[in-house]
Amino acid sequence: MLTRRVFQRTVMPALASLPTLAAVAFNEAASAAPVRSKLPLVMLDPGHGGMDPGAIGVSGTFEKYIAINTAMELRRQLLASGRYRVAMTRTRDVFIPLDQRVVDAQRNGASLFVSMHADAIADPAVRGASVYTLASHPSDAQSAMLAQSENAADRFASGQGSGAPSAAVTNILASLVRRETRTESALMQRAVVDSLARNVPLLVNPARHAGFIVLQSAEIPSVLVEMGFMSNRADEAALRQPAHRAVVAAALKGAVDRYFAAVATGAPLGG
Ligand code: ZN
Repeated sequence: MLTRRVFQRTVMPALASLPTLAAVAFNEAASAAPVRSKLPLVMLDPGHGGMDPGAIGVSGTFEKYIAINTAMELRRQLLASGRYRVAMTRTRDVFIPLDQRVVDAQRNGASLFVSMHADAIADPAVRGASVYTLASHPSDAQSAMLAQSENAADRFASGQGSGAPSAAVTNILASLVRRETRTESALMQRAVVDSLARNVPLLVNPARHAGFIVLQSAEIPSVLVEMGFMSNRADEAALRQPAHRAVVAAALKGAVDRYFAAVATGAPLGG
């Protein structure tokens, strides 16, 4: 039988040293979380979807399918590396407004936002991949038109108007983006261009900028990748092939690796 003296000598000190239930719960949460929460979250944004097919290729391919199929492959490769968490603005064929894509990235606490497209342009002879960052003033007329047609995607939701913001609105939104975010967006842009250059044809001057709504996160470095143009027969044919999409995804994964390595060390992009 437990005497009062024995209880005081042995059991009471043991009870005193037990952490409270709340502390146990907190410690469990803290020890379960770190490995996961230390990994950066990459937000992939497959363009278009649902009632918005995006560009329609010369032989009838819908951009929205190229975008999601390549994004799913990139997600697979990023997760397989064990170095990232990945979220997507859409994993199904649904329409997501442009603003919503930005908000989703912010809610998820994304460290990087990669919008994926394969749009069409007026000249069917023009081909190759290109990478865009946000700017109030477009780098060239072609980029200005691309941004205008991208920004018009929200017309599918409202069923009216072009959905494109006025130049003044774009100016204001672009000016809200932090300097550090701009610098890191440019770093990611260079990483993607370098990485794609080793694997796929590139557009002339592949690093461009324009007023894309979807790139307007103030805090999250963001790029928009045109993986090729649906208006070009060769680009469309290539992007229809799973093997080619895997090559594009691998190049983007390589760029994500180099981007985070550069951000972590503060050093320029490594080879
Ligand atoms: Zn697009």
